[in-house]
Amino acid sequence: MKKLFTYLTMVFILLSLVSCGPQDKASKQDEGAGPAEKYTDIKGNKPKKEQKDIDYSAVKPNELGQVMILMYHDIGDKESEWVRTPDNFRKDLKTLYDKKFRLISLNDFLDGNIKTAAGYTPVVITFDDGDLGQFKVKMAGGKPQPDPDTAVGILIDFCKEHPDFGSCATFYIYHPLPFREKEYIDYKLKFLVDNGFEIGNHTDTHSSLSKLDGNGIEKELGLNVWHTQRYLPGYKVNTLALPYGSVANEYTKYLLDGRYEDTVYHNKAVLLVGANPAKSPYDAEFDNIKLPRIRASEMDVEGFGLYDWIKYFNKHPDKRYISDGDPDTIVIRKGMEDNIRKGEFGNKKIISY
Ligand SMILES: [Zn+2]
Repeated sequence: MKKLFTYLTMVFILLSLVSCGPQDKASKQDEGAGPAEKYTDIKGNKPKKEQKDIDYSAVKPNELGQVMILMYHDIGDKESEWVRTPDNFRKDLKTLYDKKFRLISLNDFLDGNIKTAAGYTPVVITFDDGDLGQFKVKMAGGKPQPDPDTAVGILIDFCKEHPDFGSCATFYIYHPLPFREKEYIDYKLKFLVDNGFEIGNHTDTHSSLSKLDGNGIEKELGLNVWHTQRYLPGYKVNTLALPYGSVANEYTKYLLDGRYEDTVYHNKAVLLVGANPAKSPYDAEFDNIKLPRIRASEMDVEGFGLYDWIKYFNKHPDKRYISDGDPDTIVIRKGMEDNIRKGEFGNKKIISY
């Protein structure tokens, strides 16, 4: 509580220093501003070197553009609607890399902590269900390792070979047998967290929340967290992917916050099943309780699968999020100031060009 108060005080001081609120800052402070060199920070200091070096007209940052949150299920030998083969998954990663997409974590996306290099587009990868093909153990020298043909192994190898691709994925698991090898649950969950992956809530028993009331939802979500924390004490499970993508409208508040017995849970965001890119977290229309995902599949996704959206962004480059490389600024096109989400990210400088 004390920490929160100190934080709020700091935010307040920061807001008073810029002389107007974050929503006014865009329209007043930055109106008519040109290249980045003209800007000073709130203490009157010159901008950081790397920021000054960005030529906005060449890089064309668009931090109100859209971001793809990809949804995968299993990785396996036989391609199907919900299964990607190891080679197809590698192809997806390579295509994203070549098309200037860069991996970030879902939490960084939600927090607006987007450090993607200037001129590149962030992309988030998620996996649902905790299938074996996502993380299978292969023994090497008597020690468990991720099988190089399962999602975790493929991602780690790809990111090693392409260090500027970034890393991370979120795994939405349910219990009691995430990743389907009883003897390795503990190893796998710890491995994921130790290697920068995130673990999310996919209910405790892969239950359709549309069939449950508030208490039922709290039980499913609280028990998931309780089970995960048995392996990872203190780990913050803070995002939820809805099984079957549904919940009854009157109970949506239980998705973000609730309690089951001694376990309290909080979710920053709720992820749906499909079928569009997500709004930028800075966009006024960003809705953390209905975050759309794109199905990373080539079967039965005509018009709305990963490759359709890559084509769409090729055709409409102005629709995609393009980073300025600085997580502390929100760089947007002139005239878009009113599209910024109010009351959030007040500590970031808004620059329009
Ligand atoms: Zn599922």
